[in-house]
Amino acid sequence: MDSLNLERPPRGGAQDLFYSKANTRGLPTIVRGEGIYIFDDRGNRFIDVISGAMAASLGQGNERVLKAMYEQGMKHTFSYVRVSRHLPNAALTERVSRLAGAGFERVHLSSGGSESVEMAIKFLRQYSYAKGNKDKTRIITLMPSYHGGTLATIGWTGDEDAASVWGPMAVFGEKIPAPLSYRPPFGTTSEDGSRGAAAALEAKIIELGAENVLAFMMEPIGGQSTGANVPHPIFFSEVRRVCDKYGVFLVFDEIVSACRSGKFLAAHHYPDCKPDVVITAKGLGATYTPIGAMMASAEMVDELADLTGFNLSHTYNANPITCAGAAAVLDEMVDRDLIGNAAMLGEKLKARLEGIKDNSPIVGDVRGQGLMLAVEYVRDKMSKEVFSGDIYASDRIRQIGVENGLMLYSRRQNGGRYGEWSVVCPPLIITEDQIDDLANRLERTIAAFVDEMVRAKVL
Ligand code: PMP
Repeated sequence: MDSLNLERPPRGGAQDLFYSKANTRGLPTIVRGEGIYIFDDRGNRFIDVISGAMAASLGQGNERVLKAMYEQGMKHTFSYVRVSRHLPNAALTERVSRLAGAGFERVHLSSGGSESVEMAIKFLRQYSYAKGNKDKTRIITLMPSYHGGTLATIGWTGDEDAASVWGPMAVFGEKIPAPLSYRPPFGTTSEDGSRGAAAALEAKIIELGAENVLAFMMEPIGGQSTGANVPHPIFFSEVRRVCDKYGVFLVFDEIVSACRSGKFLAAHHYPDCKPDVVITAKGLGATYTPIGAMMASAEMVDELADLTGFNLSHTYNANPITCAGAAAVLDEMVDRDLIGNAAMLGEKLKARLEGIKDNSPIVGDVRGQGLMLAVEYVRDKMSKEVFSGDIYASDRIRQIGVENGLMLYSRRQNGGRYGEWSVVCPPLIITEDQIDDLANRLERTIAAFVDEMVRAKVL
């Protein structure tokens, strides 16, 4: 297996053969993982700074989860949820609901993030339709934002460049400016930006007609699309007020933020802003199994079940092996207090990143909450000017990171119009010593990039 030619084999090959060749040159071939580390075929070790895809909360090789999945599979591999019930389904949803708290008694399982986003919106559509509100179809989201890669979720994702390719095929929802704390869309402060964005939501609902607007969906902490943007608290109370005023459902996409922010849901940081529906995925399966979930109140779900029901499913929804795996993931989270770890070690990591920012001419911002953090790069800290596209600073830093034992993930959002950054989201099992090691390596990586830029007379 090690000797397989993964570059351009005559047939088959790795998934990256489908991606742009420019972005896949020199990708390491990973052959092994252990805790927060992954190892390539040359024996190099990398800290998984991005937790796979902001998902591997438990790191690699968790025996309890793997064993739970194996044992479940040996006992009962699969039966279809449309024609039978099984206990692992009920056991998992009971755990999720208990962690999510009041208002989230019912949990609908699906096979990943995008699918759960679609299920949440379809659930709300079906609920409104069944209650006679048949015109409610419009969805409002933030620009920029990310809600998935299916044709429906591409339309809700806030990506200025998506319409050119997908426009005629995907139905694009309505967008309002994201309340970016570092680059506020209104005024000069994070609070100005958040107040302005909430006012833009209200104006958009009025423009579309409240009777036509089904939901406003947002990431309470941004993922890769904004580099862990945390809106000002005023945004949360304002959007709840606006949604209540106009009868619009509020949906939190917590596909990344659940388990990572220092509380089970990021929503729990804002008691005066309880969303109507919450979606989660990545941390729930922690990469051991593909799973997503959308949570709503028993009141809504049971009411809809009495009317038409929500009669959509996919083959792998709530399959027993996945349910057993995700339940074991949550048991690990609770027994090892990994959510508390995210809160405590997130503060330590953020302080280290702030230190890097203070000493670096190109780190313009450090933001995020818990172990969902990001470092934004700029050519000039005063003006917040981004590096030019040909430099693609965040990706060059990713490449230098590989030489320094870091697996980073870069984003230059919409050609740099919203900035560029590395997201720093290590597995929640990370220790204090490993945080220091990660921060030291990142500091060296950024310093090496600065040296390159000084030599090239860019800085
Ligand atoms: N929403 C957010 C906030 C995400 O970060 C992602 C995945 N990056 C998705 C939705 C889509 O999830 P998936 O890739 O599992 O379909």
